[in-house]
Amino acid sequence: MPLFDTHAHLDNPQLSTNARAVVQRANDAGVSWMTAIGTDLPTSQKCVALAGEFDGVYAAVGVHPTVVHTDEVADCWGDIRDLANKPKVVAIGETGLDLYWDKTTIDIQRQWFRKHIDLSFETGKPLVIHMRECEAEIVSMLESSAITGSIIGIMHSFTGTLESARRCLELGMYISFAGMVTFKKSTALRAVAAEIPADRILVETDAPYLSPHPLRSKRPNEPAYMVHTAACLADVRNISPEDLAAITTENAKRIFKIA
Ligand SMILES: [Zn+2]
Repeated sequence: MPLFDTHAHLDNPQLSTNARAVVQRANDAGVSWMTAIGTDLPTSQKCVALAGEFDGVYAAVGVHPTVVHTDEVADCWGDIRDLANKPKVVAIGETGLDLYWDKTTIDIQRQWFRKHIDLSFETGKPLVIHMRECEAEIVSMLESSAITGSIIGIMHSFTGTLESARRCLELGMYISFAGMVTFKKSTALRAVAAEIPADRILVETDAPYLSPHPLRSKRPNEPAYMVHTAACLADVRNISPEDLAAITTENAKRIFKIA
């Protein structure tokens, strides 16, 4: 049963310069589908182009919270909106909040996150949410937005607590795990991964970042390496790798509305 990498920065030059080989190695390893995720206008455009080039590659378009305050993204929203309506664009993001790098931009981050939420409502395409040092803010923004529309989305590279996972699940969100869950010290995160309902769990690489154990020293990370993360999740959930692949792929296709 083939796997679906729900979050890979395939536009990143470390991967895009050899895109064909990267996709081929993924396919050979059993990772048949991937969502290439944009972080600003040029990377979103590149992800859409990659989706056009490769059958199993889909795209997400959006502006990452760590760049929303920069001049480069000031006028790009109209173009992001246009891209969002393209057929192989299956999600809106990467969006969310990040209080790790720069706390002074929180207000502008909130405005941009809200724009992505509205675009998700409009297009019916799910959000891909980045959350760093801001669990409470994200969850409360999602809960208040849920009053005006139906929230659908993915908590990407989830590293939060079971309590915030539960609140996200209650909103209808899916929880996606990246390489971090395989690290020796991630005992608490593995315990969270064991508790996510079977119809809401996803797996991803977040390539080219953070390769999974036992390939941690390998850089860049790439979709082919996701088999290790999937194996770890199967292990903590006490199911076979085949069953883990079957449920996560079915979940990914459901949320991305891929037939
Ligand atoms: Zn990412």
